Amino acid sequence: MKAEIVSIGTELLMGEITDTNASFIASRLPPLGIELQLVSQVGDDLDVLVETFKRGLLRSDIIFTTGGLGPTQDDLTREAVAKTFGEEMTVQADLLEHLEEGFRRRGMPMPPTNVKQATLIPSAVSLPNARGTAPGWWATGDDGTIICMPGPPRELRGIWEEEVLPRLRKETRGEVIVSRNIKTSGVSEGGLDEMVAEYLGQDNPYLGLYSKSDGIHLRIIARASTEDEAWSLIAPVEEGLTSIVGPYIWGYDDETPERSAGLLLAEKKLTLATMESCTGGLLASNITEEPLSDGYYNGGMVLHSSDRSAWLEVGIPREVVEGYGVYSEQAAQAMAQAARTRMRADIGLGLTGLAGMDSIDENTPAGAIHIAIAWEDGVSYFPSRLPPRRQVVKRRAASTALIELRRFLSTL
Ligand code: ATP
Repeated sequence: MKAEIVSIGTELLMGEITDTNASFIASRLPPLGIELQLVSQVGDDLDVLVETFKRGLLRSDIIFTTGGLGPTQDDLTREAVAKTFGEEMTVQADLLEHLEEGFRRRGMPMPPTNVKQATLIPSAVSLPNARGTAPGWWATGDDGTIICMPGPPRELRGIWEEEVLPRLRKETRGEVIVSRNIKTSGVSEGGLDEMVAEYLGQDNPYLGLYSKSDGIHLRIIARASTEDEAWSLIAPVEEGLTSIVGPYIWGYDDETPERSAGLLLAEKKLTLATMESCTGGLLASNITEEPLSDGYYNGGMVLHSSDRSAWLEVGIPREVVEGYGVYSEQAAQAMAQAARTRMRADIGLGLTGLAGMDSIDENTPAGAIHIAIAWEDGVSYFPSRLPPRRQVVKRRAASTALIELRRFLSTL
């Protein structure tokens, strides 16, 4: 079954929002055996939308749309689907009652423009939206199906899980596609490519290498008529890859560095405190992405001033600040120890380095990152060298620190 995604809204074309809805939908299609052929972004323009839908139905069995289901005049998805199918939109009494009830509950009068959110065409059924006023549409014609979902990501995800996915599952009993994502760090893409060369270039299972902020991912994708069959194609490749790149693997599938480090901290009943400089708080922010982090994360400090007195104030010894500088192995170690003792944690994590493009001297090059982990028996140090671009260094340094923390915790 072939599909395409049309993301709708002039905001997308102006570069004001990023099309995360398309990525979300795209990531959900392989397990259903639906082959995505094309993703497009279209502004709030009726003629262009109708043309896009008509062409899409010549190429694909399903078109997924997101956005343009609001009540205003520039929300034109419903009108475009109606025109594509050559049908009239009519107001549905049950949908209108449901909509009015929603406004009544919030103590607001329903603006007359919202009435169009209670319309349907004969070829469409309504997809209830528990998180907003705009229901989706599932419209089926001779040439294929158009599935319309709202733009706000929370609403889109809800309607996908509750309405679209169960219907798609019924329609797509055929080929399934499953994938396994093996996450590595500490090895370059080129190095990894050479190491796993014997597995590259095959069609089923297919092996792809992807460079991400948390390292290089090895993704194995297999197609078969059942899930079990697809997993049995993946198993020998995963085993082979593990025997070659095992020491570099830090996680699988949806695991994030903060989740896998956090799970180990929780499991081992250990607490963590951090002190960071060039990541500007991103390390602390990532750690607190995890809902359980208040159980193991005592807190963090951000040092970001060229005025060294702040460093002295939080417990970095003068001989470190003046003798080695604040972007050094010794500074990272002192930060880890200071975080641990000042915030009374079992483990202290220190992270320092230069995020910008300019090196200070040959001992302090841009992109050189120093990570240290302090615990009751001492301090471990992990150097890293990253491409010296501020955003890249920030993201990758924060991930690398948590991956090293995870490795360290798994040895305790
Ligand atoms: P509403 O009822 O809110 O008007 P809608 O279905 O008409 O819903 P839009 O008006 O197109 O949706 O978008 C509403 C908001 O949803 C946008 O301002 C944006 O924040 C978010 N959004 C829309 N499309 C996307 C997208 N493709 N990816 C990520 N976010 C999006």
